Amino acid sequence: MNPESAVVELAEPYLRGLLASAGLDVEYVRGEGNTLYRRDANGRETPVLDYAGGYGSLIFGHNNPEIVARARELLDGSVPVHAQFSAHPYATRLAAELNRIIHRELGVDEPYYATFANSGAEAIEAAVKHAELDRVLRQGEALEELAGGTERARAAVADGSATVPDAVYAHLGTARPAGDPLAPVIEEITRRNGERAAREPVFLALEGGFHGKLMGSVQLTHNEAYRTPFAALGVRARFVPRGSAEALERVRAEERGVLLGLDVDNGEVRVVEREHPVFGAFLLEPVQGEGGIQPLSDQDARIIQEFADAHDCPLVIDEIQSGLGRTGSLLASSQMGLRGDYFALAKSLGGGLAKASVMLVRETRYRAQFELVHSSTFAKDAFSCHIALKVLEMLDRDGGRAFRQATERGTALQTMLEKVRTSFPDVVKEVRGRGLMLGFEFHDQSEAEHPAIREAAGGGLFGYVIAGHLLNRHSIRTFPTASAVNTLRFEPSVLLTDEEIGRLEEALTDVCVILREQAGERLVLS
Ligand code: PMP
Repeated sequence: MNPESAVVELAEPYLRGLLASAGLDVEYVRGEGNTLYRRDANGRETPVLDYAGGYGSLIFGHNNPEIVARARELLDGSVPVHAQFSAHPYATRLAAELNRIIHRELGVDEPYYATFANSGAEAIEAAVKHAELDRVLRQGEALEELAGGTERARAAVADGSATVPDAVYAHLGTARPAGDPLAPVIEEITRRNGERAAREPVFLALEGGFHGKLMGSVQLTHNEAYRTPFAALGVRARFVPRGSAEALERVRAEERGVLLGLDVDNGEVRVVEREHPVFGAFLLEPVQGEGGIQPLSDQDARIIQEFADAHDCPLVIDEIQSGLGRTGSLLASSQMGLRGDYFALAKSLGGGLAKASVMLVRETRYRAQFELVHSSTFAKDAFSCHIALKVLEMLDRDGGRAFRQATERGTALQTMLEKVRTSFPDVVKEVRGRGLMLGFEFHDQSEAEHPAIREAAGGGLFGYVIAGHLLNRHSIRTFPTASAVNTLRFEPSVLLTDEEIGRLEEALTDVCVILREQAGERLVLS
């Protein structure tokens, strides 16, 4: 008997039950490279080829020997893991290294300041908070500048050097008063500015996007099941489709507004307007992960960048899943001509051992006071920073060999997936992705002949059932993406071998034959 079977299951028992229904509730006891070892019924270890890759957090595989050696060295050397409020030279070095590679990839030299955090969602929330602090400060600066002009107008009217033309009253919908000519004007401007400035900021995000599940970030995650129960807790997001400049323009037209003030021009008072900074930020993943491995096209990227530039809307580029080499560069977005005001990195930053994330903000947006209002006990710790430095060193050494490896291995894997799709166009809808971030989408099976396949598809569990079969029949681990459950994800490490690709080909071919023949009874789910 498994000694743990006597223990009452209190750690997410419902989720475990769901996993059990597709034979996915196995126990892994060891991990090495692209292999996890599961404990079988006899207590023995059985190797499983892991294509889920910690959902993208294992660019160098499980327990990479070089990263483990660095971790040992740190622990043996009694590294002061928690030394909050001190000099943190390792964090300084890590930020510098990130900047060095980012500058190279983007072809810019503007510094990006780093705020460290623990998880992907936290890095996103740090970016959103920073963007909001910056927006509020920009709004305050605009109001102050407008108030200065209004004061000048008041003084000029009072000393008789300026008059108030009818156009000013017309503009504001007020009548010329009997007394102080500016009193109703200033009152109306103050009222309108107050109303405008009190508006909630709008955060733009892409349909299909995923940015985390914390209170703020989940409102920027498109998946309704994750988001809507918590709508009352979070930020206001508007979701826009990829590749539509018109959709962006429509949202802008609906949300935009102005802040008002007065000034004096040639002895006449006039109303001046400043665009109200209503957009907090625009969030995007260069390759949507949980949305089904959907890369932005260059055209999609251009539309977003042009919108952001034209309307001073900060771009938050979520590279949490796509970054750190997975698509052949530190930033997948750098291959698309995108320039983030903010970048969020996490997952592989911790080398598979540490929990680490970072939010980077470019100098022109940077607000130093953010450092005093945002922190976490666990962020910027010595252990995770040193491990992240090791990861960057491994990525960038030998002229970026690991980046090239990700591209080359990714191409080999994608070529195989395409081959399977070509053989089974009736079963496989599309192969998508970049580098080692690939998706394999099946055609909808909700009208399938075989009841087991049809019911799994109807219940939204189709991808999990296929994952269960891959695991139990072929000892291959992967999962569907969170919000597109007909798409299996493949995110192995750069160590991926041709033999491992061959094993996946065999397994996927078996799945496709079962689906083509509607032989649901051949699915092995335990
Ligand atoms: N953004 C993206 C693009 C992600 O893929 C994820 C995790 N899947 C997150 C944010 C959230 O990261 P975490 O799970 O570390 O909070």
